[in-house]
This record gives sequence, C-alpha cells and structure tokens, in this order.
Amino acid sequence: MNRICIGVLALTPEWISMLDSLGVRYEEVRFENNLTTSYSVLIVNKHPTTTQLQYIQQFLNEDGSLLITREVSINIFDKRDPIDDITIHLPAPYHSQVSSFSTGKGFVAQWNLSPDKEFADTSYHRKRFYFRPLMHPDELVSSVDKNALLVTLDRILSELHFHRSLPYIKKWHSPSEKPVFGFRIDSDFGTKESITNLYQLSKEYSIPFTWFLHVQAHEEWLEEFKKFEHQEIALHGYEHGTSASYEHIFNNIETGYRKLNDVGFQPKGFCVPYGIWNEALGDVLKKFEFEYSSEFTLGYDCVPFFPIHKGALHPTLQIPIHPICTGSLSRKEADEVEMTEYFEMILAKKLRSREPVFFYHHPMQIGINVWKSVFKKVQNSELNPITFLEYALFWKQRNEALIEAKFDKKNKVLTLDSSDNSIFVQIAFSSKSYRLMPASKTNKPLDSVKEYEWVDPDFPSLKTQSELQRGKMQLIKTSLLDWRNRKTL
Ligand SMILES: [Zn+2]
Repeated sequence: MNRICIGVLALTPEWISMLDSLGVRYEEVRFENNLTTSYSVLIVNKHPTTTQLQYIQQFLNEDGSLLITREVSINIFDKRDPIDDITIHLPAPYHSQVSSFSTGKGFVAQWNLSPDKEFADTSYHRKRFYFRPLMHPDELVSSVDKNALLVTLDRILSELHFHRSLPYIKKWHSPSEKPVFGFRIDSDFGTKESITNLYQLSKEYSIPFTWFLHVQAHEEWLEEFKKFEHQEIALHGYEHGTSASYEHIFNNIETGYRKLNDVGFQPKGFCVPYGIWNEALGDVLKKFEFEYSSEFTLGYDCVPFFPIHKGALHPTLQIPIHPICTGSLSRKEADEVEMTEYFEMILAKKLRSREPVFFYHHPMQIGINVWKSVFKKVQNSELNPITFLEYALFWKQRNEALIEAKFDKKNKVLTLDSSDNSIFVQIAFSSKSYRLMPASKTNKPLDSVKEYEWVDPDFPSLKTQSELQRGKMQLIKTSLLDWRNRKTL
C-alpha cells in the first residue's frame, strides 16, 4: 500500500501556505519511515545530510519521485539520465524553469526557482490584463503571479504522482461541486441611491454581495445597511486612504470598526483602500480578529492563502479577486458593451478551468448593465454564489480536514479516510481528468463518480506577456497619476 502524502524536507511557513492552498496532504519527512510507502512524492528544498541522501537515493531507485528546488544541486544524485521535460503545459514564465531526469527507476523534476521565496514576495507593480489592443486594462497588483506559481507547483506534483502510477489527491476548493462566485463592493464615496441600486441588483439575481464599507461616506445613514438581507457587511476603513504608518492604519480601521459596531455590525472581513498591503497593515491586522482580508497587491485571480508576514504565517486569510473593475476599463475608454465583453470573457475562462470567480465593483462607477449581463450568465452556469465570509470559514474548515489516502497499486484500490466528511475530494490518475466526490462517499467505486476534464487556467503566453508590457512609460505615467490622487491617512 502506498500512502498519498507529500514529504517535505524543510517544512517552512511558505511551504505550509502553498501546500495548504493546493489542498494536498503533506508532512515533514520522517526518515525513520519507509520512504517508498510513506510518501508519494518528496520535496527536497534543502540539502540533505549524507544519511538522508542515502535514503532518498534508495527511494529513487525504488521508483520514487522528487521535486528539487534551486537550493539543491542535482549533482548529489547517482546516475542521471535526462528525459523529456515534463510534458504537461506549465504557465509562462515558469515552464522554462522546470527540467526533469530519471535516476534508477525514479523520476526527478528540477525547478530552478525557490517557490517559497516567490510566494513570500510582497512587491507590486502596475500590470496590464489581456483584453484587446489599446484597451488592455491595468491595475497595481502583486509582482509575482501567485496563481501561476501555485498552478506550476500543482502540475509538477501531480505529474510526479502519475509517474509512480499513484493518484493525485487534493481537497476541492469549493464547499460544493460547483466552484464559488463572490461579488465584492468597495463602497468608496457611494451615495444612498447608488448603493440601493446595487442592493436591488443583488436581490434580483439572488447573488449575495460582500460590502466593504468606506464608513465615513455613509456615516449619517449607516442604519440603511441594516435593511439589507443576505448580504455581508465588511470594512474598507473609516477614511478612504492608505498609509505606511502603523498608528494611522490602526486608527482608521479602529474608527471604522467602532462606528459599524455602534449600529450593530461586527465586520469579519476587511479590504484596504487601493488594495495596497504593506508591513504596517500586516502588523495592524494581527490586532483585529478579521477572518479574512482581500488585497490584490498580495495576490489576484488565485485560491485563498495565508500570507507570509515577517517570516511567519499571517493569521488573516487572504481572499484574492480579479483586480479589474469597470473603472479600470473606463480609463481605457471602453463602453458598457466592451466592459460586458471583458467580464464575460474572464468568466468564461474561469468557468472552463473551474476556478473560483471573484469580481468587484464601486457604486459610483458605471456598470449596472455590465453586471446584469454577467449575473445572468452566473445564474445559468455551474457556480455557487457565496459571501466572502462564508468562503473564508469554509476555507479554514478545509484547512483543518485531514485526508488519509492509501493506494494499492497491484489491485488498483484506493482507500480514503477523511476527518471531515463534508469536504469534497479531487482525485486524478492522469493530467487529463479528475473526479470529485464528497469525503462521505469515498467508498463508492470511482467509476461511478462524475469525471471532469482537467483544464489549465488561462495564463498569457510569453508572446502575449511581452505584448502587454509594451508602452511601459504609459504604465509609469498612470502609476504617478494614481499616486498623486491617492489619499494618505
Ligand atoms: Zn476603495
């Protein structure tokens, strides 16, 4: 019997965060175990000791699979035969960084990168998102495409499992078979009328919204939000401003929180104005008990993750969104028809790859008709509308769930044992498809479980990426203008 569990040599907070986001079973390698049966894949992310290396080499000789990162030299392994690169498609720019070779019966994927360092990176810059020439919208987002990074890790790990004829098993990213759909409103300077119109839209399409309130703008009529049904009230801040000062950020969040509290709200979610995460904000958020926050300079278009803050896991879950709003498209002179086309294109891409979908909007920007069209599509598609808080609570429950899977290679029998029966399990035997089943039904024969085509998320090719980077001066100009208009607390 082979246990389906990834063994990691150095289980750092960065690796914990990445592997938790993927939803795989993992633990720090225990060399007293029989590596071949205890671990489906080993991640060698630090130099092993001489004794450890002997065990790893034995694991390889017996058909083991390894992922080695940049920290580790391939020269430590015996007899290496380069083989074709991993055949699966990896997103640019990562595909050129992965090569593979065999040693003994084993298989090694070498990633010439330190994914943990990339994942912990908090730098950001203005990036264009693909639409059409002269109309690609841009936004200030994390420099590292964390989704591309996680998808690369996911594809490498899955391929390493398949190479051993073992299934690749993960916890699914949604509480039901359907991927989630979330809609965030940053209420920036919104009037009572603009906000009521949006609320009507939520009711009309039965999609719950998550409202991040710019409290100062609605100070005189906060009670209005109490009339809302099936909506989540979260916090954007008292004033709409950014700062690098701990004290200023703290006071702004504290004042906003208190004023919402005074009218009976206990916001569990936060997103900072302008989406700018910084070290001071990380420190301040540790003082509040928010379940989650959402900042696209940390991540966008990605599954939730726990950010790395000062070398440790931050307790506030990050829920990334698609960072483009109708305002970003207005700046490119797109009209409502073109905006609808843009969001329907993003929605269609995410539906194909069955990713979570999170969009956002501002009440004072145009777009009611855009969202009407998009919501109609959401209603008619396989999506599960959810508030951010519901998703955050689910994600934490998913994190806690332990899936113990064993595979009998000879008889091709998979046994699954889950600590939480409500979690959906994703099972793949090849990179072509996967099956989804609730953990409670894992004794069902696999053949009777619905099979989905495994479709990669859509990442721009290197050619498209270089096309999107053309006209850097324009991006710098926009950033300067943006910075001038930004309010500092
Ligand atoms: Zn805002």
